[in-house]
Amino acid sequence: MVSAVRPDTPSSHSNDTTAATSDSAAPLSLPQGFGTRAIHTASNANPETGAVIPPISLSTTYKQDAIGVHKGFEYTRSDNPNRRDFEELLASLEAGGKSALALASGSSATALVINSLGPKAHVLSVNDVYGGTARYLTKVASFTQGVETTFADLENASDEEIAASFRPQHQNCLDNTFLSPFYSSPLLLGADLVIHSITKYINGHSDVLMGAIILPQPSPSKPDAVTLDQRLRFLQNAVGAVPGAYDSWLAQRGAKTLQLRMKTHGTNALAVARFLQTRGRGLGLVDEVIYPGLASTSRGHYRLVRDHLLSPHARRWIDKGVWEGVSSHGPNSEDEGIPFGGMVSFRIAHPTTPSLRQATLTDPSSTAERFLTSTHIFTLAESLGGVEGLAELPAKMTHGGLPVEAREALGISSSLIRLSVGVEDIEDILVDLERALRWAVHGEKWDGASSSKAPDDDVVSD
Ligand SMILES: *Cc1c(COP(=O)(O)O)cnc(C)c1O
Repeated sequence: MVSAVRPDTPSSHSNDTTAATSDSAAPLSLPQGFGTRAIHTASNANPETGAVIPPISLSTTYKQDAIGVHKGFEYTRSDNPNRRDFEELLASLEAGGKSALALASGSSATALVINSLGPKAHVLSVNDVYGGTARYLTKVASFTQGVETTFADLENASDEEIAASFRPQHQNCLDNTFLSPFYSSPLLLGADLVIHSITKYINGHSDVLMGAIILPQPSPSKPDAVTLDQRLRFLQNAVGAVPGAYDSWLAQRGAKTLQLRMKTHGTNALAVARFLQTRGRGLGLVDEVIYPGLASTSRGHYRLVRDHLLSPHARRWIDKGVWEGVSSHGPNSEDEGIPFGGMVSFRIAHPTTPSLRQATLTDPSSTAERFLTSTHIFTLAESLGGVEGLAELPAKMTHGGLPVEAREALGISSSLIRLSVGVEDIEDILVDLERALRWAVHGEKWDGASSSKAPDDDVVSD
């Protein structure tokens, strides 16, 4: 089995995931798939009580039999059983992973990695990096550590330009939050470390704030992985950026269903993207759709996604083709695409009635806002990755902190809407979207069957 254990983890934490007795031979050599690892890694029946689910270990301190003689835990900031189990699970889920650190938030994971660079480091970042990361680099690390950051437009730069920006001592750190370890395996593509906001897909239920750093198996090309792990762990303990025991336990419970959720997030998001691209544009409700898994919407990245960026386990699932039945809920199922995460963005069309057009003159985001305040399945809220659908206006919400010029350069206009597609029934999701879009753009009341035009001057949302 794949069981990534920290070098200093006592052997009592090795996994016994078979139905056989714990002294039966060779469970460690059985290969296990992504879904099996998610459920069984570091989730062992309690040896004292037989409880199938490990207890939550709330104690902050641990008894020593003699000075320095203990069962591997001293004080909860340094290590805690629930955190250790969850870290072992993370290292196993992120393909190519050897060890993991769980942290108080995704932001603290980013800060810890940047902290570990020391003074006057250089950072090369994508220009559309998570806003909190850009904020930490430009408004904190630049002052406290003299870190210098170059923001690169990776989408439009040539391979030569990108290669020329790298310096030999650069380490590659990838934020894999949006795709989750199910769809993308950056460590297998050469990343030196991966960070996650566990808050999003890995916990998946919008009730835990947590982050993680995952390091690769040491190899000739990654000789420093163990030293880096030790340096980050030392720094984490010194800074105290640790998650609580209860949150670690909850996040491990959430991660057990990561595979089930990500498959449905992906098939639902693909169906939503197809629906917006064909019916949405056909009805004049939508101008542009962005989903990297749909060939006709992906700004030219579909082949890269399909041929190179999928994790091995997502590729096996997609190659089997068993998800197509779900995606054919889209009105145009011959439109080539694959599930690739649950995030879909689109530009809502300009309104068609005079009064709605008038409203956009005073507030260009009013059409988007009418849509966002009239969906029932999608909740207007920041964040992403939970089982429930969320929708938001990046220009005023998640990306509201960016300077206007930066927002415009990234295409974040007042008509751009971001959906975190949930795992609800796809039929209900599509009806919810069409109903809210018809209301926002055409002023039309539509219940999925009939439709009637709202009074022309009725511009407030229902
Ligand atoms: C949310 C998020 C973060 C920050 O994580 P928190 O858990 O909110 O601190 C970092 N990167 C990405 C891509 C995110 O979506």
